[in-house]
Order: sequence, then structure tokens, then C-alpha cells
Amino acid sequence: MPADAMEKVVNLCKRRGFVFPGSEIYGGLGASLDYGPLGVELKRNVKDAWWRAVVTGRDDVVGLDCAVIMHPRVWEASGHIAGFTDPLVDCKKCKQRFRADQIQTTVCPECGGELTEARQFNLMFKTFVGPMEDTAHVAYLRPETAQGMFVNFKNVVETARLKLPFGIAQTGRSFRNEITPGNFLFRTREFEQMELEFFVRPGDDDRWFDHWREERMRWYVELGIRAENLRERPHGADELAHYAKGCVDIEYRFPFGWSELEGIANRTDFDLKRHAEFSGRDLSYFDEEKRERFLPFVIEPAAGVDRSLLAFLVDAFDEEVVEGEARIVLRLHPRLAPYKAAVYPLLRKEGQPERARSIYDALRRHFAADYDQAGSIGRRYRRQDEVGTPFGITVDHETMRDGTVTLRERDSMRQVRLPEDRLIDELRTRIGNA
Ligand SMILES: [Zn+2]
Repeated sequence: MPADAMEKVVNLCKRRGFVFPGSEIYGGLGASLDYGPLGVELKRNVKDAWWRAVVTGRDDVVGLDCAVIMHPRVWEASGHIAGFTDPLVDCKKCKQRFRADQIQTTVCPECGGELTEARQFNLMFKTFVGPMEDTAHVAYLRPETAQGMFVNFKNVVETARLKLPFGIAQTGRSFRNEITPGNFLFRTREFEQMELEFFVRPGDDDRWFDHWREERMRWYVELGIRAENLRERPHGADELAHYAKGCVDIEYRFPFGWSELEGIANRTDFDLKRHAEFSGRDLSYFDEEKRERFLPFVIEPAAGVDRSLLAFLVDAFDEEVVEGEARIVLRLHPRLAPYKAAVYPLLRKEGQPERARSIYDALRRHFAADYDQAGSIGRRYRRQDEVGTPFGITVDHETMRDGTVTLRERDSMRQVRLPEDRLIDELRTRIGNA
């Protein structure tokens, strides 16, 4: 991967409307990013692919969508109020703040000024519920979606009539007041998660931990990430959270180094036990067959939407020279591509635009598509290659005569002719379960 790969992806994102700097007309807001028209499609496709693989494609997982602002006791029980902190030092001279564990010097790395003693800085965003700004009304924006599944465990078990093992999954925004965000979409203060809490009988946990490690690794590979750019990194005993029995990160080889896309943890019965204790409610599970009551263990695959999306983009980005001209192509999996196909009239006359438009209208009923009649056909192909559109359909004089169109493949640039009325079936087959 070239050294400037990140810069090229960031430029493409801005230029083509995948990702914009947040609040740009006001000078931006540190590490805040907005998804543009193509980015929002890509992001939806990433989440849909996850939802299909983890929820609707299985018979043992159900979904949930819970509130961002939860009862503050949730964060006491989860340990976030006491322990979700980073050590912070202040420069007495320039007033900048740094993470104590990320600077090597004993003086300010910016100005050489004297630093304060390290103190713990909580990463949760604080706010107030209602008009009173006092301690009784403090609340937090959730730093993870996982707690929603634990808090609703009883509700889900009772209403969905589930038997172990089963999972509860949710995607949604989380918020962390990071001291040092960065690397574009990789670390932002507001981000989206895709989390599954998979509840199992204690004793079955190791087996399910391995199951989810394999499932989740396969997901990235099936959606087009090259296996050599992925690895598993087991956590050492020293970095394991106190409640976790085991944890493995799935890492991607970003241009800025191997970094975590997803963590898969065996959280034991820690969370249900803590919520039972703090809420005073019985959160145990009753096994009808064995006539046993116990707290299930939980296996948690927790992935980041934005950082997976970034990995898909980086891995798909390619530059090549075709017939003496540079071609930028995003080799995105068709299921992730914002547009599945683009339709072009070869000429802006002889009824070709109208014919192309009617094909475009028909396609749009089945999948996201684009229409382009501006500029040379070569330029139009390049524009779509750059945003990852896997198929191009061209209407030309032959179309007007015999009803056939050309279908061009993004990656090989090969073209085949086929009858217009076979187009939708052909695209369906090629896109797969899109
Ligand atoms: Zn300083």
C-alpha cells in the first residue's frame, strides 16, 4: 500500500461526496465528519450487510434499537463512570492537554512548558435531562450500544420467547470525548457501532467465542477485504478488561498501521450480574428443560461502522494506467457499492437519452443506480469507476435497432452485449444477494 494511500482516499471522499469535514463553512469541528450522498449509501450498505449476516440471516439473533440517553445508573453498573477514563496532563504554559500515556516527554511536547500531574478524564459526554442543570439531572450520551442489550435482556427474553443460546444486536451512534481523535474516520468523537451480545450457557462460552471469531473474520473477507490485510490479535492478560475472560481484535492493515476494526470478547456474566445488583431486578435465565436458573455468559462481537467503512474504502482503492491514462477505481464489493449500475446514452441524440432514461427508471425500482449523459463515454466510465459502480450500461445506435445494450464490468472493463429485457436478471445474478 503506497505511503500516500490515506491522503488519496481522503481526497477522493471529499471530491466525490463520500465524506465531508463536519461544519466545514465554520472552519470545521475537530475530528467531526459528515457523510455525503455517496457516503451515506455506502454506510447503509455496510450496516445492511452486517444486519443480514448477524440478525436476519440467522434464527438465533434478534434486533434492538434503544435510546442514546439512558438512566445514569446504567453507567454506574457498567463501570463507565468509575473507569472509562484516560490519564490526562495539562501544560501550565500553553494550556494544551495530552494523554499521559501517549507522550514520552516530561514537559509539554508543543512548547516545552511544565506539565501538571496526570488526572483521570472521563470520556463520556455529559448533559442534563430537562431544564434543571444540577447534579440530580446529569445524564450521559452512551459511550457504547452494548448496555442497551443488557438492560433489555429480560424484556427481550420474555417477549421474543427465546431459548439459549441467542443474541440481541443493535447498530447505532455512540459518543466518546476522545482526547486524541484522528486518522480520518478511524477515531471520531461521534461514531456508529454494530454490536451483538450473544448469550450462552456458562461452559458453552469458549465454543461460541470461537464461532463468532470465525464468523466475523469471514464477513470482512466475503465483502472483499483481502485476507492478507486482516489479522486476529488476542489480548494479553495485562490488557484484558477485568470482567473479560478472553478478547480478540480483528485488525486491518491501514496505511497508518494495523488497527482494530472489531473486538470479540467473552464478557462472562459480568454485565447481567452488575445490572441485577444495581437495579435490584432478577436478570437470571430459567432453563425449562433442565429446571435450572442461572446468569448466562455473553460473547460480544463489537464492530465500528465508520472504521469498517474506511477499511472497505482503503482496500478497494486502486490506481492503474489504462491505454496511457490513469484510472482510479474503487473495487468495492457490489453489495457495498453506492450505485450498482450507471446508465449512459452513447450520444445525446437519435432518441438514445430517452431510451437510456427509461432503462434507468426501470433499474431504480430494483437497486440504486445513476444516469450520466455528460461528456465523452470514456470520462463517464471513469467517473463511475472512481466511486465503485460495478456495472455500466450503454445505449447506442444498435440498441435503437435491435434492443440490445452493452454491459461493462468495472474491474475487467470487459463489455458484453445483451438484450435490454435480460438486464435486470443479469445484474441480479452478478450482484448476488444485493
Ligand atoms: Zn505547552
